[in-house]
Amino acid sequence: MDIIVLRQDASEEEIRHVIKKLESRGLKSNISKGTERIVIGVIGDTAKVTEEEEDAFRAIPAVESVVRILKPYKLASREFRKENTVINVRGNIIGGKKIPVMAGPCAVEDETVLMNIAREVKKAGATFLRGGAYKPRTSPYSFQGLGKEGLRYLADAREKTGLPIITEIMDPRDLDAIMEYADIIQIGARNMQNFRLLLEVGAVNKPVMLKRGLSATIKEWLMSAEYIMSRGNQEVILCERGIRTFETATRNTLDLSAVPVLKKLTHLPVAVDPSHGVGKLELVAPMTKAAIAAGADAIIIEVHTNPEEALSDGEQSLKPDMFADLMLELKRVAEAVDREI
Ligand code: PEP
Ligand code: MN
Repeated sequence: MDIIVLRQDASEEEIRHVIKKLESRGLKSNISKGTERIVIGVIGDTAKVTEEEEDAFRAIPAVESVVRILKPYKLASREFRKENTVINVRGNIIGGKKIPVMAGPCAVEDETVLMNIAREVKKAGATFLRGGAYKPRTSPYSFQGLGKEGLRYLADAREKTGLPIITEIMDPRDLDAIMEYADIIQIGARNMQNFRLLLEVGAVNKPVMLKRGLSATIKEWLMSAEYIMSRGNQEVILCERGIRTFETATRNTLDLSAVPVLKKLTHLPVAVDPSHGVGKLELVAPMTKAAIAAGADAIIIEVHTNPEEALSDGEQSLKPDMFADLMLELKRVAEAVDREI
């Protein structure tokens, strides 16, 4: 027994009754009130629930049906929630008709540089500022990020431009600081299966963007989203950022087919990061357009005022003028697929 569907007109008292009954069997619940039905997700060891116990739930008048979900993730599944999840971040909607564009440097490097980039991306029409203060670098000798100082610069840039910020968490010990400054918490590809970290961000009240692991299947990725959701946080955005394949012409292989696949399997919004997906400047624009055509709900893209001098990912960072040109083109692609930028 994984989900319990209630009649749309079930009263609060009836809903509480079902929750209490689940609790008495050591199970927790997660309620989703859609336009057509109320669904209770059953959290815990649901495999242990016997057929007789299931029947006892079916006998409750407010219960319409009791369903087993064969997939290993349920809160993230379309079966659990038919409507798309819509996330509101300071008035900016993710998962609606309008496609938010999150832009900024790979890493926060310096106060002035960040402010200039923030002003440029805002002018071009970006709706979020991205930038890492804690950087997951492959080499321990590469720039590791400014830490808390970087978070403060991001918050300053938000204050000056009005752009909400998305930034990466690598370690639960930084959660308090990230909670103080970030509007969206990013879990990077390398931490997609850092389950303790996922559980930590699952317990806070802030949207999480979960990037696809370097070699993760879509199913594994959705199970990672489930880790976050199982702790209560339902505001998860998935982000395709390319996977490792045998191909060497691009940094990663941007799996755009993941977008329509995910739209079918889950109600969560799907973002695409073409910058890390291709790793090369000239390939970013065509793949961003393709991402929008494929149905992406959000785009995250690296922009730097001086890519040559960038402390990380300069080779895939767009200059502000290129970004501004791309934004104009994206508007036309979005219109063609009945979306807006
Ligand atoms: C990033 O967004 O700069 C980043 C490190 O991304 P990923 O985790 O996808 O490699
Ligand atoms: Mn980067």
